[in-house]
Amino acid sequence: MARTPLTSEDVKQMARDLGADLVGIASADVMNAFPPDPLWPQTPEAITPLCRSVIVIALNIPVAVLRTKLSIVVQVMDQLVLRRLDRVAHKLARELEKKGWPSFITMGQETDLRLKNGSYGRLSTRHAGIEAGLGTLGLDVNILTPEYGPRVYLTCILTELELEPDHPMTEQVCIGESCSRCLHSCPTDAVLHFGLDKRACAQAAQEFGYSVSTNFLGDYFQVDNEGKKDRLKDRNIFGLWQGLLRVAGSFGDCPRCMAVCPVGNDYHAFLAGPQKQIPEKTDEKVAKGKSYKAVRAEGGDAPGLNDWNVRWVGPEGYQGMVARQLQEFKKLQRERETADKEE
Ligand code: SF4
Ligand code: SF4
Repeated sequence: MARTPLTSEDVKQMARDLGADLVGIASADVMNAFPPDPLWPQTPEAITPLCRSVIVIALNIPVAVLRTKLSIVVQVMDQLVLRRLDRVAHKLARELEKKGWPSFITMGQETDLRLKNGSYGRLSTRHAGIEAGLGTLGLDVNILTPEYGPRVYLTCILTELELEPDHPMTEQVCIGESCSRCLHSCPTDAVLHFGLDKRACAQAAQEFGYSVSTNFLGDYFQVDNEGKKDRLKDRNIFGLWQGLLRVAGSFGDCPRCMAVCPVGNDYHAFLAGPQKQIPEKTDEKVAKGKSYKAVRAEGGDAPGLNDWNVRWVGPEGYQGMVARQLQEFKKLQRERETADKEE
C-alpha cells in the first residue's frame, strides 16, 4: 500500500478537524527511554516495538458541571467526554491507516494489574501528554494544561509514522506549594508533594470501584444465608449495579481537585466565583501545604520532585504562568466590555 507522506502539522490539523481540543506528538524512543517509573515501565515498546510516534489528544471537560455541587453530573459528563475522546482518536487512527500508516488507540482509562498496586495503565496518558508538550504535572499529579488546567481527558494513538515530536514544557504550569488548593480541597487527603496516595484518592474518586467490588464479593461469599440476604440490601450492591450499568460511581466520582485548580482561562471565566471558597480546607491541610513549601525551599526530600520526576513537573519551576494568564484574560475582558459599550 502506498504511504502518503505526512508532517506533524498535517496530523495535528487532522486531529483538530476531528474535534480534538489539544494535540501534541511525543517520540516513542523518548517515551521508551523515560518511563514514569523505570521499575514498572509504561512504554510504547511494551505495547509494540513498531511504534515510532505517540500522538496525544485531549478534550476539555466543560465547566458547567464543575460549578454544581452534585458529583453525579460530573460523572455523566466524564463518560460523555471519554466516549467522544475514543471516537475522535479512533477516527484519527483510521485516517492514518488509510494513508498507509498502521496506527491504533490505547484504552485511556485502563488498569494493567501487573503494574504496581493501583490504577496504572499500559501507558500513562498524563506523562505522554507532557512528553507531547501539552502541560506539566500538578501538585496532585494531574496534568495541568495552560489552556484548561487539569480539566482535560487524554488518550494516545500509537503510530508507525515517524513524526517531528514536540518538546516537554520546561516551565512548571502548576503554581505549586504556595497554592495547594488541590490539597486543601481533597476529601481524603490524598494529595502529596507532587505525588498522590492512589488508594486514598480511590475512596472518593472510585466509590464503587474495583476494590470495593472485590471486598464486597469476598465478604458476601463468607457470610451465612442471613448475612447474604442483608448484603443484598447494602448500598454497595446498588453502587455496583449502577457502576456496571452506567459507570456512574465506579470512576471519576470526585471532581474537587479539578474544580478548584486556578490554571486555565476556563477557571478565570467560570469557576473562580463558585469555587473561591474551599469548604474542605482545614488547618491541618494548610499546615501540610506550608510544610511542602518549606521542604522545597530548603531543597529537602520530596520524592515527587526527585531528579527523575522533575522532568514532568517542570525543571524550571513556577515562573508566574498563571498570573500572566490572568492579566491577559482581564485585559481581554476589559477590551470586550469597552467594545460592547461602543456598539
Ligand atoms: S480526585 Fe478527589 S480524592 Fe482524588 S486527589 Fe483529587 S480531590 Fe483528592
Ligand atoms: S490547585 Fe494549585 S497546587 Fe494544585 S495543581 Fe492546581 S495550581 Fe497546582
